[in-house]
Amino acid sequence: MGELTLRECAAGSETLLALWHDFLNGRMASALLLIGESGVGKRTFARLLAQALLCSGTEDAEHKPCGACRGCKRFLSRTHPDALFPAPLPKEKTIKIDALRGMIDTLSRHSLEGGRRVVVIENAEKMTPQAQNCLLKTLEDGAEDTYFLLTCDVESAILPTIRSRCRCVRVQPWEPERIEKALLKRGVPAERAQALSVYCEGSLGRALQMQEDASYWQARETVKRSFLSVKSAASLPGAAQALKDQKDQGDRLLDILEQEIRGLLHAKALGDTDRADDFPPAWQDAPPASLRRILEAILTARRWKNANVGWAALSEGLMQTISEEMKTWQV
Ligand SMILES: [Zn+2]
Repeated sequence: MGELTLRECAAGSETLLALWHDFLNGRMASALLLIGESGVGKRTFARLLAQALLCSGTEDAEHKPCGACRGCKRFLSRTHPDALFPAPLPKEKTIKIDALRGMIDTLSRHSLEGGRRVVVIENAEKMTPQAQNCLLKTLEDGAEDTYFLLTCDVESAILPTIRSRCRCVRVQPWEPERIEKALLKRGVPAERAQALSVYCEGSLGRALQMQEDASYWQARETVKRSFLSVKSAASLPGAAQALKDQKDQGDRLLDILEQEIRGLLHAKALGDTDRADDFPPAWQDAPPASLRRILEAILTARRWKNANVGWAALSEGLMQTISEEMKTWQV
């Protein structure tokens, strides 16, 4: 399916598109701070942008990074002398001042490839206050043709003085419609693209991972053949059979079931009958209040699971609840 491109990543939000256009027009800020929840694609975007800055494989900025030139290859193998990644040392949680000193030392010398240099600091909030002050000094001094790309989940953990030196860009989770469009462009079948766009929590990267993960699609099938195929008390043993030996992926099955039911509630709220059509007919008529009670039962099942209640007892209990709720739908 291939790696994500910078263009695809930028398509996720207006703020990233604006940044990409700045890159295309050669108007990039020398220090960027990408702020947003974990999983929205900040890191992927920062890495691709850094690689694009060092790519010499094509004159056409729209197609950078090319992925094939010397600059790209060295960047990807983390051997590019002008790409710096200050990060926590193994077994450490914070980025200490030593990591920054090494970076400053490198920056004080001439660029090794005679061109741009990029510094990528992922999870910049991991920098200790001393490290942040050290970075601030570097930002204040300014270095020619050097770009700093920082990402953080928690903006308030970054010194205001650093933030004021950076162009701060808030990155929102992708809208499902944008993800669906991006997946269709990549040739993902329509039905899967639709499902993935709802379940990837606003992350195209996660959607692509899920798309390639055969076990995910198997788990969805299992949920369909078990929890969602409960009809009456008589159907419980058959449904339970589908969950036998599935203990190890119990959490994932509960996640998928929860996502499915939330998706159905959402579709009902929007009057989106296409989406509701994916469910067995009985479910399409389920009253929202009843679906919410099932969501609560899933929550309880999770608690039981964490308290080491056996998977068979727990999943059968949950199916029992679903079957009880279903009785109230057929009035
Ligand atoms: Zn390249």
